[in-house]
Amino acid sequence: MTGANKQRVDVAIVGGGMAGASLALMLAHFCPHLSVALLEQRALPDADASVRLPSFDTRATAIAAGSLQLFSELGLWNQLRDYCAPIERIQVSDRGRPCGMSMRAAQQPRASFAGMLGAVVENAALGPVLHRALAQTQTQVLAPARVNRVRMVADGAQLDWSAGAGCPDTQLQAGLLVVADGADSPLCRGLGIVTERIEYRQRALVTTLGVQRDHRGTAYERFTDAGPMALLPLPRRDGSHRMALVWTCSEEDAAILRELPEHEFIARLQKRFGWRAGRIERAGRVSDYPLSLSLAREQWRRNLVLLGNCAHFLHPVAGQGFNLTLRDCYGLARALAGADLAQNSTVGLELLEAYGRDRRLDQQLTIGFSDRIPPLFASPGLFARGLRQAGLLALALTPPLRAGFVGQAAGFGL
Ligand SMILES: Cc1cc2nc3c(=O)[nH]c(=O)nc-3n(C[C@H](O)[C@H](O)[C@H](O)COP(=O)(O)OP(=O)(O)OC[C@H]3O[C@@H](n4cnc5c(N)ncnc54)[C@H](O)[C@@H]3O)c2cc1C
Repeated sequence: MTGANKQRVDVAIVGGGMAGASLALMLAHFCPHLSVALLEQRALPDADASVRLPSFDTRATAIAAGSLQLFSELGLWNQLRDYCAPIERIQVSDRGRPCGMSMRAAQQPRASFAGMLGAVVENAALGPVLHRALAQTQTQVLAPARVNRVRMVADGAQLDWSAGAGCPDTQLQAGLLVVADGADSPLCRGLGIVTERIEYRQRALVTTLGVQRDHRGTAYERFTDAGPMALLPLPRRDGSHRMALVWTCSEEDAAILRELPEHEFIARLQKRFGWRAGRIERAGRVSDYPLSLSLAREQWRRNLVLLGNCAHFLHPVAGQGFNLTLRDCYGLARALAGADLAQNSTVGLELLEAYGRDRRLDQQLTIGFSDRIPPLFASPGLFARGLRQAGLLALALTPPLRAGFVGQAAGFGL
């Protein structure tokens, strides 16, 4: 554990998952004048992935081109690229209907990064990359350090944290408290922040597949009446072609599917997804995530900001959650770049209001997109069917519309 030798920092970040670690890296880059402490309740992920935080589990994350651009700005792309499979083509289809849409990086230069529409990285690889980079910065990383209580005080926030059960509490004061402790945040509840939640009554089944043929950098998004499915390209391992599966289905179907032996799971998957990605030969252990839309009613208060899943938890359709969070982190880091937190001064409400205003439109568009697309594609009704066929057709036939859609999904829209 890294010891706490400071009693007061400019910024304290609670949670060392994707959101907290990304913000810490951006603050180190854009705000080197600020002292920052990051507190994570678990030991940090290590290189052999035997230690994992919730963010860095067996999932894979589609990182949009705009986010790759950000990682490049942070000087992280070189460390990340070895673990990434480029997305060179995205194919969207609607099961049982003829219309589909295909996009290639070469046709979307304004929504691409280094010839890619995005890249896919396994979360277990992303964690060590972020935390190794963090270890090269001045950030004070406290782990394991569980924050047991936070109190907002006149000059910022006061945190009580401990290194584990039975360890005494240590106090830390901060000018700005960033809560990035994941969905269902007890800290937010303790601060009286209400979260609105819509349960989709769906689950995402996630696993790694071995496929017979090379995916050639194609990401597939397939809409079915039971929910969207995504097959994402992964880097080869031991010469084998691999893809990451996110299969959205009802809670009842998920309970059956996740218990099936591998060959039956593959047979059901192949039937539902079809053959566009070739023969599926293997499936790894299936993990299962409940899906909901959760939105905190307040994302900032005086000396306080919420980031990541505790601020907004989205449907994973089109892989937007982390990409949106990265843009939030960037917006906050840029806003704080000009802030003077010296001599115990705190972050003015005006600065945080400006940050909130700047992030509003992107959040509304991204959250609206991820909330409305799955029901539209799941509905068997004639109107919905017509609408999605028209939508896919319009996207397929209208380059400017497609460029706008891809640009927003790629994180370049705003
Ligand atoms: C199935 C699925 C697929 C997804 N795919 C994509 C994708 O392809 N692209 C994309 O952009 N997004 C994707 N997402 C979204 C992405 O996973 C989330 O945006 C991301 O996990 C958010 O991480 P977080 O850091 O906010 O929360 P968490 O991962 O929950 O991290 C919170 C951290 O805080 C720590 N913590 C909690 N309480 C305390 C405390 N009291 N003291 C100290 N530390 C504490 C925890 O240990 C944890 O490490 C997907 C999500 C799901 C469910």
